[in-house]
Amino acid sequence: MNALEVAIRRKAYRQDGREVTALTDLVFAVPAGQLACIVGPSGCGKTTLLSIVAGLDRAFEGSVRGPAAAGRLGMVFQTPRLMPWLSVRENVRLALEPPPRQEGRAEELLREMQLGALLDAYPAQLSGGQQRRVALARAFVRDPDLLLLDEPFQSLDAPTAQHLRELLLALWARRRPAILFVTHDLREALSLGDRVLFLSAGPGRVVLDLPLDLPRPRGPESAAVEALRRRLLESYPDLLRGLASVSAAESAA
Ligand code: ADP
Ligand code: MG
Repeated sequence: MNALEVAIRRKAYRQDGREVTALTDLVFAVPAGQLACIVGPSGCGKTTLLSIVAGLDRAFEGSVRGPAAAGRLGMVFQTPRLMPWLSVRENVRLALEPPPRQEGRAEELLREMQLGALLDAYPAQLSGGQQRRVALARAFVRDPDLLLLDEPFQSLDAPTAQHLRELLLALWARRRPAILFVTHDLREALSLGDRVLFLSAGPGRVVLDLPLDLPRPRGPESAAVEALRRRLLESYPDLLRGLASVSAAESAA
């Protein structure tokens, strides 16, 4: 069974009176429980894709079938987007739908995610890493069938980002929502995904659909990820141009 079926024929934006095509013929499906990474250079349409899948943008040609209508969708944005006037606990409770509010569910999850001491803190009192953790809790608290993440660990130092990736994998392992994880970092995609979909430079479409059967856990710096990264560089240098963790010299080869 598929958790998500995407068939976007075309998505364009108006920019200064001109039409700019952001996506064309972008077609793929994500089976229930799969962790699919979408990787592509900056500006190729990744955020546009997630907005469409989330139902936030309906101005496109084509179709998207997912759990959006049923409401079992979680989303983590590029920035944490916490409400600054609400405490950690209140930010996460906000995602729980009334009625009936699942009393205690937000607090229980926050404690499991090592945020128990910060339940009543406000976002401005948290580190960048803690804010991202709260954003993850907010996405998982509804027990989503489909989770969308848009470069969620950007601009964090490497150990903090890796800690959050491991937390994401632990949460995913419990109930196995389908995940669409967007990144422009090749190592991150190769270390997290069951599968990696490579998008072309804009307008984005899928140019390589790569299943991964590497054992877990595997970090972004692991030998398995590095070996695969090297093999991809040999086979598809053009495809990897503009991705983080690929140097200009490597992709020019
Ligand atoms: P990515 O997330 O991969 O960096 P985006 O989806 O943000 O890419 O953008 C894809 C393309 O669409 C870019 O050329 C960008 O300039 C354009 N675009 C994105 N959002 C808008 C918007 N609201 N209005 C006009 N153009 C946009
Ligand atoms: Mg983006």
